[in-house]
Amino acid sequence: MVRHHTPSLSFEVFPPNPAVGNEKIIQALREMQDIAPHYISVTASNNKFNIEETTVRLADFIYNDLKIPTIAHLPAVYLTKEMVSDALQALDKVGVHKILALRGDIFPDVAPKDDFKYATDLIEYIKEEAPHFDIVGACYPEGHPEADTLLHDVENLRIKQAAGAEHLVTQLFFDNEYFYRFKERMDLVGIHVPVEAGIMPVVNKKQIERMVSLCGVKLPKKFISMMERYGDNPIAMRDAGIAYAVDQIVDLAAGGVDGIHLYTMNNPYIANRIYESVFRLMAS
Ligand code: FAD
Repeated sequence: MVRHHTPSLSFEVFPPNPAVGNEKIIQALREMQDIAPHYISVTASNNKFNIEETTVRLADFIYNDLKIPTIAHLPAVYLTKEMVSDALQALDKVGVHKILALRGDIFPDVAPKDDFKYATDLIEYIKEEAPHFDIVGACYPEGHPEADTLLHDVENLRIKQAAGAEHLVTQLFFDNEYFYRFKERMDLVGIHVPVEAGIMPVVNKKQIERMVSLCGVKLPKKFISMMERYGDNPIAMRDAGIAYAVDQIVDLAAGGVDGIHLYTMNNPYIANRIYESVFRLMAS
């Protein structure tokens, strides 16, 4: 009998606004703990909040209190080398040695700093300054919005791999065909590091409107029909959004995906439903 491997399952959470406090996210994380995800990654604000007070603090809790492997995101376009070194030191202190090295979005009204033009510059800097850190990179099955062609974007990704990205996590997508075509292009240019597919179960209409404008991902016809049918009924929309994500994940698992990275939106209910619907069965 041929045994198929089970894809890894990891989660993404975001730190709340420091003014709100961490109580709610800590409770949410405790509710995700039993699933024993492969790792939990913590996003970081690009130019708004202090990373040490937000991302590092939450990463510390996940790693040291919950004992779950943790990845800290680090967008660097608005950071200097000195600021990155401070962030690395803060992560070092709490024992978190995995970083999702990012450029970060450039805001039209805020000039970037000069030190890190691309994520690759950050990767090279970390490799030099703190070679004991593991580095993860971001990638975009539909192409990064600023890339003139997907081909150029994938070529830049090859440079990211060569600089030291040891695995990649994708932007969310709702049509698996983009992911499969993207993987073929990566193969052609020699990108062979593991790639985790970013999946976001969409559980309300507002969330998707925000995501589409932010990431520019395309919505397939069956997704739009689902929104039209269930968008005004919160419970039905939630269940339909989870069912859609489950369908995507089952297909990706059958296609041999390395891992699923779940954009949880800090919602343990969603994480648990996805785990129960797909991963518990695959693991048994
Ligand atoms: P890069 O890899 O630098 O790419 C940016 C653009 O430059 C692309 O068009 C690329 O083709 C091009 N490029 C890259 N290298 C070169 C080169 N050497 N020469 C010429 N062109 C090049 N943002 C946050 O602020 N906080 C987060 O926590 C966060 N988490 C994320 C997690 C994931 C999984 C993903 C996919 C994105 C995340 N983002 C986050 C968003 C991300 O910061 C933006 O998408 C940003 O615009 C690009 O970041 P990057 O690291 O992919 O950039």
